[in-house]
Amino acid sequence: MSITVVGSVAFDAIQTPFGSVEKAIGGAATYFSVAASFFTPVSVVGVVGDDFGAEEMKIFAGRTIDTSGIERVPGAKTFFWRGEYGYDLNVAQTKDTQLNVFADFKPKLGAVHRDPNVLFLANIDPDLQYEVLQQAGRPKLVALDTMNYWIDSKKASLEKVMRSIDLMLINEAEVRQFSGEANLIKGARAILDIGIDTLVVKRGEYGVLMFHDDRIFAAPAYPLESVFDPTGAGDTFAGGFLGYLASRKHLTEVEMRRAIVFGSVVASYNVEAFSLDRLRAISRDDIESRYREFRALTHFEDFELEA
Ligand code: AMP
Repeated sequence: MSITVVGSVAFDAIQTPFGSVEKAIGGAATYFSVAASFFTPVSVVGVVGDDFGAEEMKIFAGRTIDTSGIERVPGAKTFFWRGEYGYDLNVAQTKDTQLNVFADFKPKLGAVHRDPNVLFLANIDPDLQYEVLQQAGRPKLVALDTMNYWIDSKKASLEKVMRSIDLMLINEAEVRQFSGEANLIKGARAILDIGIDTLVVKRGEYGVLMFHDDRIFAAPAYPLESVFDPTGAGDTFAGGFLGYLASRKHLTEVEMRRAIVFGSVVASYNVEAFSLDRLRAISRDDIESRYREFRALTHFEDFELEA
């Protein structure tokens, strides 16, 4: 069972009400692969500059993560993102995006990256996502993430790739931005109508909604007293969610609902510290113990409804 991710490996500068960092390891593919590796082997396809050296690459070490698909461009700089959060930690304000090595990136999938069980097209240029899809063979499940930056600048390309995937992850605000619908359910339906089987809407501290056929599954976020840095919450959610799914034989709805809870658990750990600091420290046991707490949190006894 395997999973391939293509996306950004990055340096981030982050400011939250609780502190700031100027050059932390980030990137959607980085967060995703570390999160997914708790459940299944992962192969990463991405690009870095020579400023992302052996020390930074240690983030992938000691885990079942194949990094042979990370290209290093000599003399060039790694993707850089600067984001800020106010007290509403659900909203990231992008202050700077420097594509650097991503500007000329032509992803090349080797044999190890083709025909994975699950392919995750993390948040990057939708034209690159499409190119990867053409090379990927026949994954059982193709999932895609995006963000406001690409909805603004490359909506037609994004729609093209959306027509060829199975599952999409998107933020609540991006559902509204993409669909032009104020109501989230109507907006989600409009996106599903493009030809997507499953839509997972991330709602920050309010949890997740999964739309599949005519059914909706709702999960809360794990209630945390201290959220330090929400960067990577979406990607670690995707990593836990798709990593768990890739480790299962059948992608039934029961498994998909469990996967939503595993994704929520991994994301809840990630936001407790800056960058990937918290993910570096946790184990599969920590994930399972919070999974059990999650079950207790959402459990209630049923009773006979009166006719
Ligand atoms: P999220 O999980 O949504 O908080 O994603 C955070 C990560 O996305 C950061 O570590 C950034 O490096 C990365 N990122 C931000 N903007 C972009 C972009 N336009 N393309 C690719 N990756 C991005």
